[in-house]
Amino acid sequence: MAEPVRGSEVAELLGALIRNRCVSSFDAGASNGTESVNAATLRAVVEGPGVDVDWHEAIDGRASLVARIAGSDPTAPSLALMGHTDVVPADETDGWTHDPFGGELVGGEVWGRGAVDMLNQTASMALTIRRLADEGFRPRGDLVFWAVPDEENGGLQGAKQVIDTAHDLVRTDFALTEVGGAARRTPDGLVVDAAVSDKGMGVIGIVLRGRQSHASLPHGADNPVLKAAEAVRRIDEWRPPVRISDPWRRWVAAQGFDAELAAALVDPDRLDEALDLLPPGMAPHAHACTRCTAVPTVVKGGEKINTIPQSVELGINIRPALGDSADAMAEELRDLLSDLIGPDDLFAFQQDATASPVDTPLWDVLAGVTARAHGGAALVPAMLAAWTDASWLRPAGTATYGFGLLSEKLSPEEYWSRFHGVDERIDLESLDLSAIGWYEVAKQFLG
Ligand SMILES: [Zn+2]
Repeated sequence: MAEPVRGSEVAELLGALIRNRCVSSFDAGASNGTESVNAATLRAVVEGPGVDVDWHEAIDGRASLVARIAGSDPTAPSLALMGHTDVVPADETDGWTHDPFGGELVGGEVWGRGAVDMLNQTASMALTIRRLADEGFRPRGDLVFWAVPDEENGGLQGAKQVIDTAHDLVRTDFALTEVGGAARRTPDGLVVDAAVSDKGMGVIGIVLRGRQSHASLPHGADNPVLKAAEAVRRIDEWRPPVRISDPWRRWVAAQGFDAELAAALVDPDRLDEALDLLPPGMAPHAHACTRCTAVPTVVKGGEKINTIPQSVELGINIRPALGDSADAMAEELRDLLSDLIGPDDLFAFQQDATASPVDTPLWDVLAGVTARAHGGAALVPAMLAAWTDASWLRPAGTATYGFGLLSEKLSPEEYWSRFHGVDERIDLESLDLSAIGWYEVAKQFLG
């Protein structure tokens, strides 16, 4: 039977993965998770004739599963389908309509944490590898399925760990992972996003120091809470340069905007005025894709209402744009605060934004598969304001896209609102399309 896996089969496996409850959490400064449970469920799916399976568990309970259909031509390009196996926490008391870890199929949709991010794709990837092997598919280059833990906490115990210590296990020329597939009607027809770049990511910790003293005597006191307020005010007013990157230009050009708006959106001097003219919901995305952002998210300090504290800590989430040096952005922040902090009072960990080229044979295959699945839709290179494991793959030499196929009925705004949201769910048509996507791409690109 030479045909893709059906959405109903994906729904069954997706439900099982959701019920496994592989939440990756962050406690006491460390990422932890139990993704080996999902990896084991997936191993049972992919194991069998024609598929080589590796189990990489460098950190207890956090296994990567790597399944490979070996290629016949060592010089042919190889392709990985990479899906993460962890999910963010969900609390049923937040108003979920159905149990967030029930994985139930209700009203033609699978409900639960991970239904869009991204156990749906991980499930359809695994089933597709098994299906292709059962059909006797012999790719030219290797076809690899990589189920990876710890994406939701930045991949230091997942993708990064494997690439650093066992790269040969997962090294491929190309990879597909989240996030893609949102379809939007434009005056020029249907366009479907596939991510070609991720923003950078960084964590900046700042300590503001003062001197502990009695709150009854503020005159002449050294109060770090006031310094923290000043630091937050400066960070909010910081205006890093606007970056008009190649992926941004391509994305704007494909949206069917009128000529005046399209021109303003790629002009650094006019971009910010144009944000208000965008369709509802699009401005935050356009703003974030075109500059480094730095957002204060954590404030810690002060325990007693009648005591001026000794110090206050701030946590800043910094996300450099394509074209920024992440190190230079952190340095700018340090300069901005230099009179408020000492030389050792700012701790930074940051990564540059990444991008993959669009002029590749894989992109052409993705565009063809998308057009066929959606009646002539155009595949559009999109920028992620967020971060995915692609941020580890690209610097390691793998051209990586966030790709998927989703039902046209699922609007981009609705789709994005389900990421880490209440009532996360996915419809059967999207699961059908997702399976068709991996199947057709593998056959056309590697066949
Ligand atoms: Zn994800």
